[in-house]
Amino acid sequence: MTTIAFIGLGNMGNPMAANLVKAGHTVQGFDLMPENLSIARDNGVEATAGAADAVNGAAVVITMLPAGKHVLEVYEDIAPLAAKGTLFIDCSTVDVDSAREAHTIASANGLLSIDAPVSGGTAGAAAGTLTFMAGGSREAFALAEPVLQPMAGKVVHCGEAGAGQAAKICNNMILGVSMIAVGEAFVLAEKLGLSHQALYDVASTSSGQCWSLTSYCPVPGPVPTSPANRDYRPGFAAALMLKDLTLAQEAASSSGAFTPLGEAAAELYERFNENGHGAEDFSAIIRYIRASAA
Ligand code: NAD
Repeated sequence: MTTIAFIGLGNMGNPMAANLVKAGHTVQGFDLMPENLSIARDNGVEATAGAADAVNGAAVVITMLPAGKHVLEVYEDIAPLAAKGTLFIDCSTVDVDSAREAHTIASANGLLSIDAPVSGGTAGAAAGTLTFMAGGSREAFALAEPVLQPMAGKVVHCGEAGAGQAAKICNNMILGVSMIAVGEAFVLAEKLGLSHQALYDVASTSSGQCWSLTSYCPVPGPVPTSPANRDYRPGFAAALMLKDLTLAQEAASSSGAFTPLGEAAAELYERFNENGHGAEDFSAIIRYIRASAA
């Protein structure tokens, strides 16, 4: 079994670290928030006084932090302290440029590295069924895959450095755009006197079918497990959707891609967040669409 440093024990990091402990690994964890460290301790993580202590003796270092600047700060601090050949896995969702910069810091310090953002949310983190999208060398991926398995439903090697983050933001741009499209369709159906169930029954088996409709339906009723049935409690918060759509727009701008629907989706979620709805599930955007129509 492996000694793993886990830095960033928040809503995602804590249940992920708990699954590594359950798999028999020794997990040395650090978080800036004492209450998160205390939860980690209850889950069997050895809480440390700082990131440097967590890295001491670890063969693998996992980070699960809010954004690119946090990841780069932590990498600058701890990469020089880790033994040569240590594997660094960043599971945070960050911009592609920061992800590549993190790989550069790792390699300059003689470390192996993978960017491995996840899909599946806090429920997937708790259940150990996250999808990991990995970017980095074949050698680093081969070492990372068995470490990720206890936290994963699926692990996909997407390509070289930054490819995991690229896959994540492309997927979530599809998700944001498709949720708005499904919301617009239900609001138009309401105006036309068509019931939610009738639209669902037709579109769920027709060419309009998509995950936002059949797994995460934004109106209550047709899909009983969707957040619409529990007053849009997340799930996947609108603030996180805005984060990912903004990352997609930054990547589109720096790479020269034309993404007009991604841009419109980012603008809509920005307004939704500014109006105080960031903590609601992202499917609650349908309320904003409905209210705007009225
Ligand atoms: P969170 O805010 O709950 O956790 C982040 C943790 O990092 C916090 O506990 C914070 O104290 C800690 N932290 C920040 N700077 C640190 C530092 N320098 N050293 C140690 N700890 C530090 O966020 P989360 O929901 O766990 O998300 C983590 C990442 O996963 C984000 O990048 C997010 O976009 C991504 N993500 C989240 C979800 C989700 O549903 N929550 C789903 C997929 C991906």
